[in-house]
Amino acid sequence: MRELAGLGVSPGRAAGPVLHLAPPPSLPSPAAVVSAAEERDAVRRAVALVADDLTRRADAAADPTAAEVLRAQVLMATDEMLTDAAFAAIEAGAPAPHAIAAVLAEHRAAFEAAGGYLAERVTDLDDLRDRLVAACLGLSMPGVPSPGHPFILAARDLAPADTAGLDPSVVLGLVTAEGGPTSHTAILARTLGIPAVVRCPEISDISDMSMVSLDGATGVLAVGVTQAQATAINAGAARLRQRGADSTGPGRTADGHPVALLANIGSARDLTGDVEGVGLFRTELLYLDHADPPSEQEQVAAYTAVFSALPGRKVVVRTLDAGADKPLPFLRQAAEPNPALGLRGLRVARRDPGVLATQLSAIATAAAACEADVWVMAPMVATAAEAAEFTAVCRAHGLPTAGVMIEVPAAALRAGAILRDADFLSLGTNDLSQYTFAADRMCGDLADLLDPWQPALIALIAACAAAGLEAGKPVGVCGESAADPGFALVLAGLGISSLSMAPRSIPAVREALAAHTLEECRRIAKAALAADTPEAARRALQKTI
Ligand code: PEP
Ligand code: MG
Repeated sequence: MRELAGLGVSPGRAAGPVLHLAPPPSLPSPAAVVSAAEERDAVRRAVALVADDLTRRADAAADPTAAEVLRAQVLMATDEMLTDAAFAAIEAGAPAPHAIAAVLAEHRAAFEAAGGYLAERVTDLDDLRDRLVAACLGLSMPGVPSPGHPFILAARDLAPADTAGLDPSVVLGLVTAEGGPTSHTAILARTLGIPAVVRCPEISDISDMSMVSLDGATGVLAVGVTQAQATAINAGAARLRQRGADSTGPGRTADGHPVALLANIGSARDLTGDVEGVGLFRTELLYLDHADPPSEQEQVAAYTAVFSALPGRKVVVRTLDAGADKPLPFLRQAAEPNPALGLRGLRVARRDPGVLATQLSAIATAAAACEADVWVMAPMVATAAEAAEFTAVCRAHGLPTAGVMIEVPAAALRAGAILRDADFLSLGTNDLSQYTFAADRMCGDLADLLDPWQPALIALIAACAAAGLEAGKPVGVCGESAADPGFALVLAGLGISSLSMAPRSIPAVREALAAHTLEECRRIAKAALAADTPEAARRALQKTI
């Protein structure tokens, strides 16, 4: 058995055969067509193969929307107009894969020109082209494999589109050669409860169907496990998951000090288990892949689905966080030399205030019709003036509880001034780390700087928590650091009043808090604040408990 080292980003263990995400095929330079009949047969075979594969995946899809998209792709693939156009291109001298690619390129241009719903379908067309071309060339189907049995998915890196439809009962674990701890892939793996390891470059050399086990907490990958070992590992992981599902109740320290444990969600579908409320509703998922912004009615329906599931409980809605690592086509943002430092988050409203106004009005309509305690906050606020402007707009829309995320060091340093207008703060430690350390959160090589135990980050969190205590207003954490059970003790000790995370991370944090008194958490926080390195801060935790 051989061990490979990576970075654990979504805890849990899993074992099974590895399958690699196949890259999209590239077209070879076109060879002269010897037999048009053979090329036509190649097109027919590719269409049949792709239609069969997509139909099998549609039948097996747990999510009805995903199944619908797959069936629509089957219809596109088997459309006679497509085959006839490919045959015409073959007559004109193109080999089968080139003929298919050319025909689909024409469809793509027409879809794009039509705009609206059709323009949103171009990614489905691109996927279909890749599948048909791969089938013609005798290559594996691109994208997430669907072998009909559970497996560990390996990839250089995963795009959000690859991971969006992942089924945790089939994809037992994720391992990527690249990626970082706060990348959206890592966040999605945690949301789905799939153990994941990133930054494991040697995974590229491990062949398909090799048996591996992975530990998403330590980042260790073992190659060459036996079937019996794999079965035992998966059974142990299932027992742990069940224990987590059985653990309920509000977050409390051993002596009863409340620390609300809230959920980070992207839609009502992410609400699993019994949660105290939602601390971060990432609304941009509603806007992703849209050529036009979702209508106000569409938004009201999506917000109502979440609010009505949580009567009497808190739901913190974050307004659209677009730009940088979350580009949204309909905003037609100009290319920026430094998108992470450009018009993103609340800053989009400088140029396009209508998008924010429509969203706030949809949130207010949904909130008025439900019993959830709806709070609203803006991402990427940098100054007290921006916070004052945002909270005023929220109140004008009839949303009484308005706060801001602290993701920019400038805002952390001015937390007290921001709290004069804002009702609460929520610390987005993923971006706060990125901007404090000038370290791209997507860059795995800088993972050490993005470690939440870094003294500078702890100092900024402490300043915000102190400002909250002084103002008598709540300060929560909704970045990934809240899901680290040891770090949660530091946060509680600093005076953070709520921790928001992927619902599956809540049980371990609940257990950690329940095992320590507030006084112990304060001692741990003091020791972490006094440490000069992340390692020393972690050691301080070990010594204190
Ligand atoms: C954060 O930056 O910590 C955060 C919670 O927001 P996101 O990860 O969606 O940028
Ligand atoms: Mg953020």
